[in-house]
Amino acid sequence: MSGHQPPPVVELRGVGLTYPGPPPVEALRPCELTVRRGDFVTVTGPSGAGKSTFLNLVGLLDTQTCGTYLLDGLDTGALGDVDRTALRGRRIGFVFQSFHLLNYRTAVENVALALVYRKMKRVRRVASAREALARVGLEHRMDALPSTLSGGERQRVAIARALVGEPSLLLCDEPTGNLDTATASSILSLLDELNGAGLTLVVITHDAAVARRGGRTLEIRDGRMTEQAVTC
Ligand code: ADP
Repeated sequence: MSGHQPPPVVELRGVGLTYPGPPPVEALRPCELTVRRGDFVTVTGPSGAGKSTFLNLVGLLDTQTCGTYLLDGLDTGALGDVDRTALRGRRIGFVFQSFHLLNYRTAVENVALALVYRKMKRVRRVASAREALARVGLEHRMDALPSTLSGGERQRVAIARALVGEPSLLLCDEPTGNLDTATASSILSLLDELNGAGLTLVVITHDAAVARRGGRTLEIRDGRMTEQAVTC
């Protein structure tokens, strides 16, 4: 490796996962994948194909049963549970279909809570949360409670919460699954914009329209991952 080039954000070398069963289920067959800084990768496939298994592995929520997973060049297989959780907290931001916001906390409090385990003073955490909310276009709704926000605004808060710790990777699971078409489109535009500013994105979706937004598209079928050729 050249001394100047940063390692890929994600590097999977023969990574697979077989649930032990019985009977054993080969949910993700051994696969190779390199995600570099600034990539926008979408992962598509039918229900039961292995998308959640892939997300859980890349998100360090589960551990592969074969192969090597390097995150920012770090061999995740060598880590114990505590280090693994710490690495996940620092390097990966998650965005889910359901926004998982605390209803009795304002937008800015929801975002600042993501930094609670960092060695930062509260005032710094709140300032960072405000910056993250501004990045997603919510500077005017910082002190709103989630119940007073639209679905699209709630997802923006969730994206700000995922971004506030400056993760290496934003991992999104059906990020527009709970939104109407127009709102979904605005969230996808926001993801495009964040990607344009250098954020690395992996978006899991069963929606072909969402999948097309990625610069790279992976498909998982019956646990087998393949990369789709780019069509211009
Ligand atoms: P998707 O997210 O694409 O719907 P999943 O990754 O959830 O697919 O599942 C892939 C396969 O692994 C399916 O056949 C599913 O039944 C199986 N599976 C998922 N979780 C478990 C588990 N904990 N134990 C055994 N099999 C599982």
